[in-house]
Amino acid sequence: MPILVRNLIIFLFFTVLLILGYGIWNIEHRFRSVTYSEFRYCLANHDLATITFIGNKVVAQHTDGDSYETTVPNAEKLISELQKKDIQIIFKKDRSEQIFHGTVLLYIIMLALTVIISLSKKKKEAESKFASDKLILPDGKHKTFTFDDVAGIPEALEELQEIVNFLRNPDQYSQIGAVSPKGVLLQGSPGTGKTLLARAIAGEAKVPFYHFSGSDFVEMFVGVGASRVRDIFKEAKTKAPCIIFIDEIDAVGGKRAGGATASGQDERSQTLNALLVEMDGFTTSDTIIVIAATNRPDILDPALRRPGRFDRQVTILPPDIKGRKTILEVHGAKVALASDLDLSKIALMVPGFTGAELANLVNEAALMAARDSKNVVDYIDFEHARDRILMGVERKGMIISEEDRKVLAYHEAGHAIIAKLLPNSDPIHKITIIPRGRALGQTQQLSVSDRTSYSFEYLKSRITILMGGRAAEEIAFQQRTTGAQGDIVQATELATNMICKWGMSETVGPQAMVVDDAGFLGGTSRRMEMSDKTSEFIDEEIRNLLKTCNKDAVVILKEKYYLLKQLAAILLEVETLDEEDFEIIMSCHFTEKIQAGIEETHQCETCPAADSCTHSKRKLE
Ligand code: ADP
Ligand code: ZN
Repeated sequence: MPILVRNLIIFLFFTVLLILGYGIWNIEHRFRSVTYSEFRYCLANHDLATITFIGNKVVAQHTDGDSYETTVPNAEKLISELQKKDIQIIFKKDRSEQIFHGTVLLYIIMLALTVIISLSKKKKEAESKFASDKLILPDGKHKTFTFDDVAGIPEALEELQEIVNFLRNPDQYSQIGAVSPKGVLLQGSPGTGKTLLARAIAGEAKVPFYHFSGSDFVEMFVGVGASRVRDIFKEAKTKAPCIIFIDEIDAVGGKRAGGATASGQDERSQTLNALLVEMDGFTTSDTIIVIAATNRPDILDPALRRPGRFDRQVTILPPDIKGRKTILEVHGAKVALASDLDLSKIALMVPGFTGAELANLVNEAALMAARDSKNVVDYIDFEHARDRILMGVERKGMIISEEDRKVLAYHEAGHAIIAKLLPNSDPIHKITIIPRGRALGQTQQLSVSDRTSYSFEYLKSRITILMGGRAAEEIAFQQRTTGAQGDIVQATELATNMICKWGMSETVGPQAMVVDDAGFLGGTSRRMEMSDKTSEFIDEEIRNLLKTCNKDAVVILKEKYYLLKQLAAILLEVETLDEEDFEIIMSCHFTEKIQAGIEETHQCETCPAADSCTHSKRKLE
């Protein structure tokens, strides 16, 4: 039963008691009441000793002691009458009104008390429950993870094995006089498995695990966060050895800006201080490990990294192709995979995917298979799932005018042809003019290997490919549309980084021009402070690079216009082309004919070479 309800019942009980008490008091003090006529009769015929006025009531007392009360209509007239008769007149205050007011006051006080008591009780309960709510015990009721559940990041596991050992045998460490580790900072992009890793440590060591998030400590009221931190550590000490995990530590552990007085800032730094004080205050007998996770290590307060605090830092990068394969194996084990499915092929398909994205990929693929009532998940399902994750749901129902579809087809064909013809670019994986998510069309390339560094030539051809869409539109229709917005943004970002970050411009030289104040590994960056002249100079360099790439794209597409026309026509017809189809079209015999002006566009069905034409065979299938 909620506390408030219980207290209300108690309160009602008291109210009833009070009313009863008042009633009894009233009855005891009541006089026999008579009618006004009876009173007049007595006044005229009997000896009355006193008349007491209480409000608009009078109490009459006979000389023989008998008394009664009545209500009088006109007190003044009665008073003058009584004066004539020489009866003693007494005035008394009407106490009933007073009593009424008193009762109301009492009610209000009691109500307020009830509310206050129940609220404070509630708060206390919430505070004490706060820590225990977030507790995951190794009791078999909660799902526990082990290092077997964490795939693809063997280095991190190796580094954290020591923490597990320490939690298992703290004595071994204290005997030898080794100072126990206190804090571990896991840094990495969202979804790389930081939470999973922390839970796996707890699972390996079979210790209780407290799961908090930095935002749990950022409350409206100053001081609440700090007191929570103290409570948590107090409670954790009773459960030691244990792990306290704080996700998104940057919510409280961001750099403390000097002199800032905003209350949010105040609250955060108080909380952070409390955390540091608690961590410094561990004794060797408190076997508590604090694990914090962040994807913004760059904004963390340096005080957090000092020895005795989060002095162990483990960086978790998105997995490489081998890592992706093992993660797919871990999650693939939970679904029925087709027996001939090669997970390394799928790992190749999703460069840059994190553990969480891979887990999601497996699940989406399984959903696709289930929707098609298949018994096992196969390659096609993975391919669809991946497209869905990367590009959103196919918007087949979206109505695009014929004119727009044509522009779109030329746009995508432009990207694809340039990607095909430039030597330093990744192979085409798929071209589509079916709108998905926010994109209208799409030309996908897949990198053959995980690239960790990019050459100038590669980056330049990337920009040229991005420019290919707009260039194709211009060549075919002599017009510019808004469709190139995304391409232009990406190209500009690349060009800026090439010149300002990666020192790839001859004239600017190897000088850093931007400050990275964005998230973990990348994002947008801010230009450093520099003279207007330098700034202008850099702008010009970026502009030149973009213009050169655009010009290259236009030159290539003008030269291969016959190819562009053909590819766009086929795209309009079939909407989506995969790698194989694309290669066939690019190498088909007809291109020569078109080039030679023999055919305007090519119709395989009527083509004299139809028998040997792989292109037509595929189309007829
Ligand atoms: P983070 O805390 O870094 O944002 P999580 O630990 O919450 O990421 O990861 C979310 C999910 O992604 C996990 O529950 C797990 O299913 C999956 N996952 C992430 N990394 C891995 C990995 N290395 N191995 C296996 N599964 C992983
Ligand atoms: Zn043909």
